[in-house]
Amino acid sequence: MSQKITVTVKDHSYPIYVGANLLEQAGEIIAPILSRPQSVIITDENVARHQLSRLEKSLTNAGIAFSTLILPAGEATKSFDQLQSVLDQLLGLKLERSDKIIALGGGVIGDLVGFAASIYQRGIGFIQIPTTLLSQVDSSVGGKCGINTPRGKNLVGSFHQPDLVLTDVTTLDSLPERQVRAGYAEVVKYGLINDVDFFTWLESNGEKIITGDRLAQTHAILTSCRAKAHVVAEDEKEKGNRALLNLGHTFGHALEAECGYADTLIHGEAVAIGMVMAFDLSVRMGLCPQADAETVRQHLERLALPTRISDPKHALSNIPMTAQRLFDHTLHDKKASGGKVTFVLTRGLGQAFLCRDVAPNDIKAIFQQSLDAAD
Ligand code: NAD
Ligand code: ZN
Repeated sequence: MSQKITVTVKDHSYPIYVGANLLEQAGEIIAPILSRPQSVIITDENVARHQLSRLEKSLTNAGIAFSTLILPAGEATKSFDQLQSVLDQLLGLKLERSDKIIALGGGVIGDLVGFAASIYQRGIGFIQIPTTLLSQVDSSVGGKCGINTPRGKNLVGSFHQPDLVLTDVTTLDSLPERQVRAGYAEVVKYGLINDVDFFTWLESNGEKIITGDRLAQTHAILTSCRAKAHVVAEDEKEKGNRALLNLGHTFGHALEAECGYADTLIHGEAVAIGMVMAFDLSVRMGLCPQADAETVRQHLERLALPTRISDPKHALSNIPMTAQRLFDHTLHDKKASGGKVTFVLTRGLGQAFLCRDVAPNDIKAIFQQSLDAAD
């Protein structure tokens, strides 16, 4: 059983299917949208170990011939070298312009494969089969794709919408729990932006998503995808409200940069701390009730996510950082324009908005507050 959402962006529309054991039906679902029964699966070595055979069997059963490229796991795979290697292999496989490639994996594979698809012979179609909670609720939807350069993350890329997203919640069973919890931070984000009912639902059901309750996982993923699809339909290229999806991200990216994008702090964990900072900043600016900031902190803590840089349970607290250095990272935010950084602030739970006028001293003070030990 699966449920379906349709994403519509200008002249392109595509379905997202969400359900349990969809990998077993992947062949049947994919076959009708291929121009010939042939494709290429691109995945990483961890996903290959746990999930690849399910997809391969399903494609074979549906009469689809395929080749498989298995890339190294990890953020470093989003590189020019890997991009070049993937393009070269696709050319070697004589993939045609009307063919579609299949990205099976988390955000790293989705971003790299989407970008490769967007430039291979000036653009071919691709299918997202996201296998991390983060990619199921965020990166597989909306068409942003790209790679990192030594100068920073996601600095080279394009917008290229997939033709189909197929989300099998059972793939989360093999995902390390730390990764599931980190992805959960992005789920909470949608509630905090503009859906207080969803946040309230998460307060009672959040832990079920981590422990593998299929109904809770499906509901959370569908609600998140619907929210993202809605924002993307109105603002595909992030000229306005799509930036609300960056709640907690300007702070979070500063922390990730300071940790060298290493495993010490993974993206969703940085976003959890960043969302608490966005609420604290809004309280400091007199925009948001203190009680709402406290509610967010407590919820994330209950779900075992870090909520401050000085969290003694997290390895992050051992890395020397200063508020000034962290602040400097925010100035290099990719989303800065005219030297100003747009912050996502809030008037309370589910009431986020964009603000380009935040005083540098307030930002530094919030970093300092997060660096200071809890009272
Ligand atoms: P990831 O793809 O690196 O996956 C995390 C880890 O889990 C990897 O080691 C991977 O091999 C492993 N893994 C994945 N699925 C698994 C499974 N089912 N079982 C076992 N192991 C599995 O990381 P991610 O968190 O999915 O994505 C992060 C990337 O997404 C970043 O590069 C970020 O920039 C990008 N991103 C893109 C967008 C967008 O809109 N395009 C949005 C958010 C994040
Ligand atoms: Zn994110």
